[in-house]
Amino acid sequence: MQTEIAIRSLLATLKDPETGRPITQTGQVQSVLVEKNWIQVAIGLTSWAAPLADEFRQAVVEALQHQFSGAAIEVKIDKHDRKPLPLGTTGLNCKSVIAVGAGKGGVGKSTVATCLAIGLQRAGCAVGLMDADVYGPSIPHLTGIGGHPYEVDGKIQPIMHDGIPVMSMGFLMPPNKAVIWRGPMLHMTVTKFLKETNWGDLDYLIVDMPPGTGDVALTLSQTAPISGAVIVCTPQPVALLDAMKAIAMFQQVKIPVVGLVENMSTFVCPDNGKRYDIFGNGGARQYALEAGIPFLGEIPINIQLRQRGDDGQTRANFDDPAIAPYLEQVASNLTRQLAAIVAASPPKPSLPVLG
Ligand code: ADP
Repeated sequence: MQTEIAIRSLLATLKDPETGRPITQTGQVQSVLVEKNWIQVAIGLTSWAAPLADEFRQAVVEALQHQFSGAAIEVKIDKHDRKPLPLGTTGLNCKSVIAVGAGKGGVGKSTVATCLAIGLQRAGCAVGLMDADVYGPSIPHLTGIGGHPYEVDGKIQPIMHDGIPVMSMGFLMPPNKAVIWRGPMLHMTVTKFLKETNWGDLDYLIVDMPPGTGDVALTLSQTAPISGAVIVCTPQPVALLDAMKAIAMFQQVKIPVVGLVENMSTFVCPDNGKRYDIFGNGGARQYALEAGIPFLGEIPINIQLRQRGDDGQTRANFDDPAIAPYLEQVASNLTRQLAAIVAASPPKPSLPVLG
């Protein structure tokens, strides 16, 4: 009994990544069993925090080992659903909306947005993917999906990519047709995608932004509370200058930047394993450090990654050991940064208890 009380007070010092509240207050401690020299703890973690499950389990194990040295310790992490609340007036049931932006086109922004969505989903989160790059919608191409979304009861039915609802201008436009967008049309389309799509209940909505322009960012920031923006850039100094402009643009519309991703960093030659820094290496990491922006990770230049993108097989990158660890790290680092923001913000007492 004594030990169980001590264990529960130790668990009270651990915070739920999604809410920032002690796990003992959110009903997440499912059981504490103590027998002789054996301790078993079962904790529920929401699907939002799924990418952090292993890390969280390890933290609990270490805390218990520290206090009860010599005991056999078993920590079980169980995934639970805490239903998202509607975001603002959007009617969108989502916990975090993440904008993925870049200062210029061609740096791999859509690839990173797609891989973030797939990486988070594979970790156990409910994810939607919205292609707001209305000038060059490439998500349908990268995921290999197509079709024409239809409406049911006034809601657009997104096209599904292996369990991820996707909405893109690419589904609505004939290929090879350029659309001239005026500000109000852009605003209307993005708002419609956000508010009138049947997204279902989401942990994350990943939004692929058009490069450079602030129009869509402004619309997004006015329509829904955006958790943050991820900026993608290549390591060259000139690309970093563009990334800085993108960061300034998001900050201007009050969307916090949650991290920087360096794409197309080192190329590892498949023939001889030699590393080549084609666009340089580490520039984004260094810049992020100096600017006080979290660095979410780097993704190497990889021929298969480009090939799979062209074949609509972006998901297959997660089965490739040469590329999957980088993509998984970016996804879990994003969740870690969001959790850090939540932990630093004042607690929200009204959040529902798990069950
Ligand atoms: P953006 O959205 O910034 O315009 P895309 O994601 O469409 O960029 O990527 C542009 C091209 O670069 C695509 O052909 C894509 O497959 C390729 N690409 C992106 N990232 C990488 C990478 N790390 N290695 C190799 N090719 C990449």
